[in-house]
Amino acid sequence: MTWITGAQNTWCPGCGNFAIQHALKAVLEDLVAGGMRRENFVLVSGIGCHAKIADYMAMNSFYSIHGRGAAVAGGIALANPDLTVISCAGDGDAYAEGLDHLVFAAKRNTDMTVIVHDNRVYGLTTGQYTPTSYEGFRGRSTPDGVRERPINPLELMLASGATFVARAYTRKMEHLKTVLKAAVLHRGFSFVDVLQICATYNNLTDYYAPRVYETEGRDAGDFEAAMRLAREWDYSSDAPIALGVIYESDAPSDPWPRMDGGGPEKRREEIRRILQEKI
Ligand code: SF4
Repeated sequence: MTWITGAQNTWCPGCGNFAIQHALKAVLEDLVAGGMRRENFVLVSGIGCHAKIADYMAMNSFYSIHGRGAAVAGGIALANPDLTVISCAGDGDAYAEGLDHLVFAAKRNTDMTVIVHDNRVYGLTTGQYTPTSYEGFRGRSTPDGVRERPINPLELMLASGATFVARAYTRKMEHLKTVLKAAVLHRGFSFVDVLQICATYNNLTDYYAPRVYETEGRDAGDFEAAMRLAREWDYSSDAPIALGVIYESDAPSDPWPRMDGGGPEKRREEIRRILQEKI
């Protein structure tokens, strides 16, 4: 059974959204082959180029509104903790319109995965700057260049209490799959900032190529080390750009009990079993 719908795909040729879609597809195929139930996965998207992924993936999905993907995903996870909830968001979507929802989902350690398609531009509306656009970026709304410093989403998520924080890159496909799989299997709030190429309005391929490197998850349990790694690159400088799981900790999630008195144990048992089979 395919994971890709027959909907006409309108992403531009070369767009990094394809890489995220196919990495996610590979991860879901792998997890279903390992025993997780396809019908228990739910995909939520916001508004923006990324959001079309809800139309293009053949699975349970919810095409929500601008910036509210994390809120909708959190509601789904809370209503039925047996589900594995994945929220795809854009950088303008998650870090501007929806920033408060993202911060509170991290603070609550809601059991869900947020994947930010961080192309560092509003692509759907033809090239305006977002909170992660670099200083000096010239877009439709900033012809003289952005004069603000970008926010650093990894630092922000660490400070907000996220228990899984990672960064990946759309031109490192195998690494992207590994990171997304780890994020989906993490129990609690997982956050992945995916540096995504926007082929039309912000193609940073030549900028990223000499700077990205893989951390291999070293010191991922050390919060201070994670914060140092998060601050190594400020989304504007020429510093090296760490990719991988930079922080992971085990902390209680789902602070609210279910109405029926149950809990997320069923899904957790399923994940534990899969993890044990892999060891
Ligand atoms: Fe992808 Fe950019 Fe085209 Fe949007 S505008 S589909 S992000 S390449």
